[in-house]
Amino acid sequence: MTSPFDLQHVISCVSGYDPDALRVDAALAVMQASVQPVSAVERLAVRAALGRVLAQDIVSPIDVPAHDNSAMDGYALRGNDLAAQGDTVLAIAGRGLAGHTFVGDVAAGSALRIMTGAVMPAGCDTVVPQEFCRVQGDTVIIPQGVVHAGDNRRLRGEDLACGKTALPAGKVLRPADLGLIASLGMAEVSVRRRLRVAFFSSGDELRSVGQPLDAGCVYDSNRYTLWGMLERLGCEVIDLGVVPDHPQAVEAALRTATACADVVITSGGVSVGEADYLRSTLARLGDVVFWRIAMRPGRPLAFGQLRADGHSAWLFGLPGNPVAVMVTFYAFVRPALLHCMGASPQPQPMLRAVSAQTLRKRSGRTEYQRGLLTPLPDGRWQVSAIGNQGSGVLSSMSQAHGLIVLHHDQDTAQAGDLVDVLLFEGLV
Ligand code: AMP
Ligand code: MG
Repeated sequence: MTSPFDLQHVISCVSGYDPDALRVDAALAVMQASVQPVSAVERLAVRAALGRVLAQDIVSPIDVPAHDNSAMDGYALRGNDLAAQGDTVLAIAGRGLAGHTFVGDVAAGSALRIMTGAVMPAGCDTVVPQEFCRVQGDTVIIPQGVVHAGDNRRLRGEDLACGKTALPAGKVLRPADLGLIASLGMAEVSVRRRLRVAFFSSGDELRSVGQPLDAGCVYDSNRYTLWGMLERLGCEVIDLGVVPDHPQAVEAALRTATACADVVITSGGVSVGEADYLRSTLARLGDVVFWRIAMRPGRPLAFGQLRADGHSAWLFGLPGNPVAVMVTFYAFVRPALLHCMGASPQPQPMLRAVSAQTLRKRSGRTEYQRGLLTPLPDGRWQVSAIGNQGSGVLSSMSQAHGLIVLHHDQDTAQAGDLVDVLLFEGLV
């Protein structure tokens, strides 16, 4: 997928580059400037395209709605016929239902009984809701002031105009987009192919679920959190299991991953521990930099391009601690993968919440704390940091509603200060 590129050149364009104390935003900038979107495109049925990235603009082939139509059940009339003073009395010319257009004229001085979605009769520009009207024989009586000319009418093309871009390339398709595409009468769309992401965990102490837990060992949880985050992003996930701290095993896993995936994610073994062979092997296999990011948790990180056996892949070498894996994924991997998927950049909304306590923080690094949100009586949200913020403590990650982000240049936040919270959940 990728052509050889020069990581050092990308890095030379980043101001204040210091691999041993790299700002979060600088690390992300290097990644975003390096990774390339997948180019292959596939045609999918609309429903199969949920969560996928639109490959081309969708230009509307029709006006939606196709006709001026009523937004209410009521009576369609000419705004000009509304009396300046007192009631308006109009003759009822007939009935128009959604899907059953009234045939005939609605002459000046008359009105059409009309239902929501029914085509507006020629000449009529206003609908008065039925709850305001009184019917007397063949006439409808409309009190003064309940409607103004032009009210309750949906204009032809007001949702989508023929020939205009209805959805831009790069959009990650949400349920509303599927409905919008269907409203244009389209059965298929062109999307980028799914990004293939392979991962493995490295560490002699790791055991996979289903194996006995030997003394001094832990179950590998990173392959589960990573799987979950990648699935939610809509990636094709390739789980390469646990790889022991052994140079040949690590190299073989990296070669396999590079051959089958666009992106390789590893967890563990990027710190300067004795048994961490990943560093030297990565350095041999590609153009990889090792960073100490000015952040907590998640300090060590490797990034670059792997090249093996005629294939190449982007590498994200994450730290091993379970919380650090998730935090670095959200901070770096997620935005970089979205870029690889061909998605247009989107700002990441954060909730501004009132801190329930003092949050100690050292300026000069970005800190992420797991937070619980509670509504305040004044309508704002309050956030409290969960007790155990250890970078191996997954239970507090599971309880948290989101991450309190204490930005690089920010100092300690006092109780009552507003802080940013990155929410884990959005709407489906
Ligand atoms: P490392 O980055 O390899 O030094 O690992 C840091 C810590 O994270 C150690 O306590 C590891 O046992 C733990 N760890 C590493 N990988 C995993 C994993 N896949 N699942 C759970 N814990 C892990
Ligand atoms: Mg390790």
